[in-house]
Amino acid sequence: CGIIGYVGGKPSERILVEGLKKLEYRGYDSAGIALCTEQGMKVVKAKGRIAELERLLGRQTLPPGTIGIGHTRWATHGKPSDANSHPHTDTLMKISVVHNGIVENETELRKELEEQGAVFRSETDTEVISHLIAFHYAGDIVQAVQAATRRMRGAYALAVLSELEPDKLVAVRLHSPLIIGIGDGEHFVGSDIPAILEHTRDVYILDDGEMAVLTREEARLMTIEGNPIAKQRFRVNWDL
Ligand code: GLU
Repeated sequence: CGIIGYVGGKPSERILVEGLKKLEYRGYDSAGIALCTEQGMKVVKAKGRIAELERLLGRQTLPPGTIGIGHTRWATHGKPSDANSHPHTDTLMKISVVHNGIVENETELRKELEEQGAVFRSETDTEVISHLIAFHYAGDIVQAVQAATRRMRGAYALAVLSELEPDKLVAVRLHSPLIIGIGDGEHFVGSDIPAILEHTRDVYILDDGEMAVLTREEARLMTIEGNPIAKQRFRVNWDL
């Protein structure tokens, strides 16, 4: 039920986990993170509290990644389990996705993607999104996310990471909240301001049908159709 994402110059593992803790108040049954590292995409996720995720992270040394996404899940499709926790990946594990919301046409999309050869590893509606993005990927992750959202019905806040373009984080929302944090040589995505307030007070509040492409240096805002939009920055003047 919470999303966090980071792209910048710092190791992102702690930033993601601490951000997830700030979103605990929203309720959740599992938690996970994905990082793009020099050794490719790394995903660590588990059913249970964030403390359980931290225990797993403590048992291994992930290669450092300065770009990553994290999620706390409130299950709607598929029971709370390690496999059903987010992030979800495509068959080749090149793309990872965290999602708040519901894909209403999940059954139809799953069938179609399985017929195309997609190998599913969970019972979630979210996993169709990662396969759908992979299916539409032709060298541009932004276009692939746009094409995938055209096929999805329902509600979503998404953060997407691809090993094939490891400098970019793509965020998009429809009927589920999502904000962008603007830092100095770094950008954040979060489902709520508390998740990023420790790092920056300058934010964009995404509206329905809007999308952000984040790199270290820039936050490009556009509609889901890809038309650029000019948006007012918002300065947060309250504390937690
Ligand atoms: N529908 C998704 C799932 O069940 C996302 C739930 C959420 O918003 O946390 O995995």
